Amino acid sequence: MAQRPATKKSAERAALPHFNFRRLSGGAVLLTNDSGTHASLSGAQFRQFRDGRVAAGSALYKELSAKGFVRDMMDMDGYAAACAKKNSFLGAGPGLHILVLTLRCNHKCVYCQSSAVGQASRGTDMSPALARKCVDFALKSTNPGITIEFQGGEPLLNWEALKASVLHARRRAKEQGREVRLALVSNFSLMTEEKARFLLANEVSICTSLDGPADLHDKNRVFAGGGSHAAAVKWLKYFSAAYKKQVPEFRTFKPSALLTVSRYSLGREKQIVDEYVRLGLEDVFLRPLAPIGFAKQLWDKVGYAPEEFLSFYRAGLDYILKLNARGVTIRERNAVMMLEKILNGTDPGYLDMRCPCGAVIGQLAYNYNGDIYACDEGRMVGWQGDDLFKAGNVARDPYSKVMLSQASRACASASSLDTQPQCSRCAYKPFCGVCPVYNYETQGSLSGEMPSNGRCALFMGLFDTLFSLLAKPASAKILKGWVSK
Ligand code: SF4
Ligand code: SF4
Repeated sequence: MAQRPATKKSAERAALPHFNFRRLSGGAVLLTNDSGTHASLSGAQFRQFRDGRVAAGSALYKELSAKGFVRDMMDMDGYAAACAKKNSFLGAGPGLHILVLTLRCNHKCVYCQSSAVGQASRGTDMSPALARKCVDFALKSTNPGITIEFQGGEPLLNWEALKASVLHARRRAKEQGREVRLALVSNFSLMTEEKARFLLANEVSICTSLDGPADLHDKNRVFAGGGSHAAAVKWLKYFSAAYKKQVPEFRTFKPSALLTVSRYSLGREKQIVDEYVRLGLEDVFLRPLAPIGFAKQLWDKVGYAPEEFLSFYRAGLDYILKLNARGVTIRERNAVMMLEKILNGTDPGYLDMRCPCGAVIGQLAYNYNGDIYACDEGRMVGWQGDDLFKAGNVARDPYSKVMLSQASRACASASSLDTQPQCSRCAYKPFCGVCPVYNYETQGSLSGEMPSNGRCALFMGLFDTLFSLLAKPASAKILKGWVSK
């Protein structure tokens, strides 16, 4: 819709459309609307805006008009297009399919969220035939580009099922002319040259856990065989070298690493970032621990309050920005994904920060026995004997039944921010997402209560930090350089 020129009347009292706002530290006021645009106003400007006294023709009036904050000047087609762009994932179908190939693991991590059992346990491996069935089920998704992620326990403990599903997925993808991404999350302790070559030849991307320098990593990630950090570093270097070499026969992906912040990590942000830089990793994900599964039982030992994490995060991000200013290439993943939403209005694929969240409609987790859960976190609740988040079974239920399951509906409804009293008026609503599993585990209901919700406090702190940094030219320049143009 073409914009109308400002009239004398609109100059006198500009009509206000729907918006949310939040006062930031330093006195600035952030305005946002449902299309995901935002404006940062001084306190005086905000009062003018609130009272409809922004002078027509002024720079502020033009900015607010262009961003959809002046009702008489709204470009409704543009507004609708921005909403459609940021919610484009809604009709796509689940894109992430997590195959839990075994519950067995040879590590005993202090925060383990994956419901792992001992290496010698029996009866918790997925059979190769069932793994192939899971691949076929994943391929029923209407999403044009799915990712199948192999997890555990430690998935390399069930190499036969891993190999069978990789080969089957590659064959089916070729038959169907479909893009299928394959990904392995492994602690690398059982990696061999032969396995690595197979994974590379079949274009499986690789991700491992790296919690920082050796002493911290090995304290978090206890490995009876010793040297968890050494194995992670050895194979990270191997896959990085393969990525640099690239061969014409197949695509090779840059390996990545996942960090889990435990209580032991607090205060060690610089050493963690330095370790990632040392290993040539260009992204570090300062990922908070959630009190779900095993970590919930050990929260007093390994957990922390949201404010403790936020202090760690702010110090880590500050250090990363300083490194960037010195020409070092390193980004922080929470910031990158949030900035994609804030600056580009696109969905970065972070399923836990979508509205509704990614449970079932964005991802499915296939347990070793074929049970399908709304997500991997929901599977961990299932392991404790509560199948609230179970959406079906690969062998027994058709795809449509899983998609329309109670778990699917309940999670979608509970994670819709418009139904959350605090979220519906929160300035961060266009960029945020709530987690029904977290709410259920910490507050006893899928919807939870945001005023006392630890995850909400954490996300609010992350957004406050980013918007404060975006208000400063030097940090804004670096942060803008982290997102796609
Ligand atoms: S329930 Fe929580 S963990 Fe599961 S997909 Fe939703 S946000 Fe993510
Ligand atoms: S979870 Fe918290 S930060 Fe996110 S939209 Fe809701 S109230 Fe805002």
